[in-house]
Amino acid sequence: MSEVKLEDIVSLCKRRGFIYQGSEVYGGLAGTWDYGPLGVELKRNIIHLWWKTFVQDRDDMYGVDAAILMNQKVWQASGHATGFNDPMVECKNCKARLRQDHVEKDKCPVCGTVGKFSEPRQFNMMFKTNVGPVEDDSSLSYLRPETAQGIFTNYKNVLDSFYPDLPFGMAQIGKAFRNEISPRDFVFRSREFGQMEIEYFINPDDWKPEFEKWVKEIHEFLDKLGLPKNMVHELEVPEADRAHYSERTIDFEFDYPHKRDELLGLAYRTDFDLGNIAKATGKNMEYRPKDGSKPFVPHVIEPSFGIERAVMAVLVSAYKEDEVEGEKRSYLALPEHLAPVKVAVSPLLKNKPELVKKAHEVYKTLKKEFGNVMYDDNGNIGKRYRRQDEIGTPHCVTIDFDTLEDGTVTLRNRDTTKQNRIKIADLISAITN
Ligand code: ATP
Repeated sequence: MSEVKLEDIVSLCKRRGFIYQGSEVYGGLAGTWDYGPLGVELKRNIIHLWWKTFVQDRDDMYGVDAAILMNQKVWQASGHATGFNDPMVECKNCKARLRQDHVEKDKCPVCGTVGKFSEPRQFNMMFKTNVGPVEDDSSLSYLRPETAQGIFTNYKNVLDSFYPDLPFGMAQIGKAFRNEISPRDFVFRSREFGQMEIEYFINPDDWKPEFEKWVKEIHEFLDKLGLPKNMVHELEVPEADRAHYSERTIDFEFDYPHKRDELLGLAYRTDFDLGNIAKATGKNMEYRPKDGSKPFVPHVIEPSFGIERAVMAVLVSAYKEDEVEGEKRSYLALPEHLAPVKVAVSPLLKNKPELVKKAHEVYKTLKKEFGNVMYDDNGNIGKRYRRQDEIGTPHCVTIDFDTLEDGTVTLRNRDTTKQNRIKIADLISAITN
């Protein structure tokens, strides 16, 4: 388990504008979260890093962005309509409805009563809706509970448009919805969340080495997120706990504040999904090797990342406390490429027009170069540094009276809190390096 306390992360996120409770002003809606101005930047930086790593920097990957609403036949063929259930129990004392596998030692986590649960009943986690004006079975649809099916349904389209060589992958980032029985642990278990998924199509003979490659590539990506290696753990999911179609699954777990828990999954899904589509639609899902050898339905390896769980792991990894000049300080030691703000620019005093003018000039130059630059003249300089530390800004530039004399500024490092005097002309290269 992480030593960082969940309440410290939650309170920093709210106080500094990263993540708020969904519909908070109306009393909230359980299991939903809204990203504030800094949270949305952090989340986008994570998403961008993922897309760049797994799609743009590779030649074997095709991106898609499928509709959230899909034909109900998708969920019948995939097994979700009948099988996407969690056994639910109700505490007879406080009426809390809980996922049976979340109840430990027969004790209600809400009221503490022991051994007073109803018989478990199956609860389908998909959100239902109707498409069009008539509410009947034929118009039934669901908010997708995973993005994966939007990839499988486009496999044939991509095959026909691009004639890719095997192995190749298809990637998608988007929202998924699950009516979790008990959403909890901040954004970790939400009812609406983001997924970043890949279906990697392979020749079944190659599944073992391809699976190993993915294990390695996932670790490399988690490194780029700044997660310490000793907080990431591979859990080889035993056969009895695996989905029936999966020949091998590794859950990548992270030491979250609530406990060690699943960050993402890597599963060898065989030809289960393409096989189901072929059966349900009568359409041919085979891949025709270019050397003229026998066509076959590719098998699939699926790395499935949850965006919220990645955001939370990044925050927990980055959260630090230390003491500066006798005062407790908390800061986010975010990797620079993930920080919502890369540089903050401040005039030492905001009531000195000559400092303000110069600060605006420097701000504009840096903004043009880096984009995510903040002008900050709120409160005194000490407070500004604390605030920037807390939101993980790696560099703070301060314009003071020496600047007006000799064209130098102070450049402060978030992690060491050390300040260097440097020439304005050298700022961009100092920040870039
Ligand atoms: P869990 O066992 O924690 O319910 P799962 O095994 O059902 O998760 P998958 O179906 O494998 O999860 O989904 C793939 C990924 O989607 C997960 O590894 C996780 O990162 C993310 N995810 C799943 N459910 C949620 C949720 N309710 N809130 C946030 N992220 C989720």
